[in-house]
Amino acid sequence: MKNIIYADNAATTKLDIDAFRAMKPFLLEDFSNPSQVYSFSRSSKNAIKTARSIIADCIGASPEEIYFTSGGTESDNWAIKKAISLKNGGKNGIITSTFEHHAILNTCEALADEGHSITYINPDKNGIIKPRTMKDGIGLQTHIVSVMMANNEIGTIQPVEELAQIAHENGALFHTDAVQCIGHIPVDVKKLNVDMLSASAHKFNGPKGIGFLYLKNGVELSPLIHGGSQENMHRAGTENVASIIGMAIALKNNNDDMYKNIIHIKELEKCFISKLNDSNVDYIRNGGGDILPGLISLSFNGQDGEALLHMLDLQGICVSTGSACDGVNKNISHVIKAISLNEEYAKGTIRVSLGKNNTYDEVKEIAKKLITIVQYRT
Ligand code: PLP
Repeated sequence: MKNIIYADNAATTKLDIDAFRAMKPFLLEDFSNPSQVYSFSRSSKNAIKTARSIIADCIGASPEEIYFTSGGTESDNWAIKKAISLKNGGKNGIITSTFEHHAILNTCEALADEGHSITYINPDKNGIIKPRTMKDGIGLQTHIVSVMMANNEIGTIQPVEELAQIAHENGALFHTDAVQCIGHIPVDVKKLNVDMLSASAHKFNGPKGIGFLYLKNGVELSPLIHGGSQENMHRAGTENVASIIGMAIALKNNNDDMYKNIIHIKELEKCFISKLNDSNVDYIRNGGGDILPGLISLSFNGQDGEALLHMLDLQGICVSTGSACDGVNKNISHVIKAISLNEEYAKGTIRVSLGKNNTYDEVKEIAKKLITIVQYRT
């Protein structure tokens, strides 16, 4: 593989080496189906039990509140589709935000086709869902509120605790998509008082295709996936044993090193931003308030984000433009539209997302190449 500088950690992360080592025996030696009763299955069954406890500990939950899924998309689908089908005095309304991940937005669209009423609330210009706006949108028909814990394109961290409280005061359930947060910033489900929370291992140095849904004790969702009796009859299918173990080890390592990682990543970020500020490039950093460490959404005046991405790619640098563009306004993502950024800047948006494995040299190189490209295209 040619030398690359990877700065797209919000898209996915490199597998933690301890997670890989912990997974290997469960692929090659202890490969049993954990549902079988013979003693050979004991090891994988026990490993899943331990993994569930480790994960629960990392987010302040109890082990029986953790359900393994195939990742963030499945967790989001399960939470919204099955919570809305719970009986709750005939309520059929969902409130969500306009800048959620498409795992939520497209799920809500599918539910709208089935007759559910969806209310979308907008973030402010800083990319924050204000509790006041939520209060104005919530009504007697609101059954579920789903607001992401941090936005995946601009990194803004939402006031989830306050939003959950408003939902509860109005008799609604609260779900949060915490895919970008788990393993990166402290998350305590009890303090947040959320009913459901989605997570995905590949965003915190775990393997791809595995995640979990936190379901608060007392919130009884019917299965999204039907079949066998795995996951306490809640999610059918033979467990992805190795990945479950890899996810738990990766999360524990990230949680144990969280403050060290945050300091390192914030220092990298400072170095990167100071290089940009020392140049004469005309840009805006999107988002205000608390932002996920290392998530840097930049909009360059008069530029084309996709062109910048390709030119950086030619230099061996991986960044992203955010999420997939839509057909109507090709270069502007739904998130950037939601914060009403001036079009001249909006079109020139890229996302640089730094992670624990990035170095100062890499960050200086990204800044140098980016500044040269922007100046060349100005
Ligand atoms: N939610 C958010 C906020 C995300 O960033 C992502 C992935 O980009 C997902 C959901 C989907 O997660 P997964 O890739 O595990 O399906």
